[in-house]
Amino acid sequence: MSIESSSAIIIGSGISGLTAAHKLQNAGYSVTVLEGSERVGGAMYTHSENRWLAEYGPNTILETHAKIKNLITELGLDEEKIYPGSVSSSRFIVKDKTLVPLPLSPTGFFTSPLFNWKSKLNLIREPFIPKWQNNYEESLSEFVLRRLGQNFLDYAVNPFVAGVYAGDPHKLSVRHALPKLYQLEQDYGSLIKGQVKKAKLPAQNEEIPRNKAKMFSFRKGLKELPETLASKLKTPIQFNAIVKHGQKVENGWQVEFQQNNESKTLTAENLIYAGTGHQLANCKIINNKELDLSFGNEIEYPPVSVITLGYHQDQVQHGLNGFGLLVPGVENLQILGALFNSSLFPGRAPENHVSLTVFIGGVRQPELALETEEKRLEIAMQDLGILLGITGSPTFVFHKQWKKAIPQYNVGYGEIKSKFQRLEKDNIGLYFTGNYREGISVADTILHALQTADQIISTNNIN
Ligand SMILES: Cc1cc2nc3c(=O)[nH]c(=O)nc-3n(C[C@H](O)[C@H](O)[C@H](O)COP(=O)(O)OP(=O)(O)OC[C@H]3O[C@@H](n4cnc5c(N)ncnc54)[C@H](O)[C@@H]3O)c2cc1C
Repeated sequence: MSIESSSAIIIGSGISGLTAAHKLQNAGYSVTVLEGSERVGGAMYTHSENRWLAEYGPNTILETHAKIKNLITELGLDEEKIYPGSVSSSRFIVKDKTLVPLPLSPTGFFTSPLFNWKSKLNLIREPFIPKWQNNYEESLSEFVLRRLGQNFLDYAVNPFVAGVYAGDPHKLSVRHALPKLYQLEQDYGSLIKGQVKKAKLPAQNEEIPRNKAKMFSFRKGLKELPETLASKLKTPIQFNAIVKHGQKVENGWQVEFQQNNESKTLTAENLIYAGTGHQLANCKIINNKELDLSFGNEIEYPPVSVITLGYHQDQVQHGLNGFGLLVPGVENLQILGALFNSSLFPGRAPENHVSLTVFIGGVRQPELALETEEKRLEIAMQDLGILLGITGSPTFVFHKQWKKAIPQYNVGYGEIKSKFQRLEKDNIGLYFTGNYREGISVADTILHALQTADQIISTNNIN
């Protein structure tokens, strides 16, 4: 069997698979993307209906690296890109069932009703707390309790990780879930000293620090990105093509997939798995012997329910003058948080109307994300009624339920990462990219996919 050199099969057409495909095609590779579902984008997709716009998963991308900006420019999407107005810098945290602005400056922190006097004292003490020098891997909550105390954990970190990971700080590993925070302590001995010193350093490798990185979307929603990437591919994506079997053959890899009840095969020099961690466990890949991929099932993927609701603005008492609200676990409400979509970007709701996206479930209350649509709507309306003074029924409702939403980088995640590295090292031409590798954000997945493509290009150039 002769295999075309500089060729690649990519499993999955989420942002990871499509970014890698684009980069490889530009480097002269012949690329085929196999997608198990009937559309591109994976978690990144948009629903539009009668002047309402709702996202299935991510709502914004953070421009944390020049490579992300360059990719958008290269795709000709600069004109479509939209940035939220200054309103997005205000975020609310729920305390005693009311919305309190998250302080944005040290002075704001010391005067904020969100934090008690003990928290304020802890912040002054933080630079003097010795750095962790144990081999024991700390959870995020252990790390925060040691350096900043319970109140900071409850009203800053707990809602923050509910918003990003739909996760639980008691389970997440500080080292793997928030590596930049972990590294501040490692490099500077203190988070505050580290922040101050790092702010004075020149940015490295075109990286844009999170606090300076701009957030964006596209006029027609985030699906513009995967759809544009897909439209540039010379070989059309194969949809409804669930890959269950891959095998090492001479000079490359052969995959077998089911499409429209037919069994098909494809071969290429390189095979990139850009699916999800949990679906990997259903794949069988053979290189002399079957590779152990069962650890994909060890990655926790909690369910998350997303509901976008539209109201006439007269139904909402709150001014929705911010990015959104986050609910700390100790507040005993049923939602994780809500985004104020129509305040962020224009054109997400008809005139005189507003739209909000509510998140339910996650590691905190997985059972709620699995409730019926009717019950989930009731939960969202109940909590929004308390928090934002919303009355009456929504005029627009869009549901998206993710039974397995976001991979949790829990304590011990280093072992999962090592398993992926070992698989790549032991199986030439086999690669893994996706939100289970080096960060769950869209920005992190784009960067890892570009890095994977670069690795393939440089390896093939050497051989
Ligand atoms: C509700 C929610 C909100 C989020 N909000 C944000 C946010 O605001 N900002 C942000 O930066 N990030 C956010 N994220 C995270 C971010 O969206 C994801 O991490 C990212 O989009 C994942 O991209 P991916 O390509 O790695 O995986 P996916 O998007 O999951 O794509 C994987 C693709 O592979 C396909 N596939 C899997 N297995 C196979 C197989 N065997 N054969 C063929 N095809 C297969 C799947 O069908 C899917 O299309 C959010 C995620 C969710 C779920």
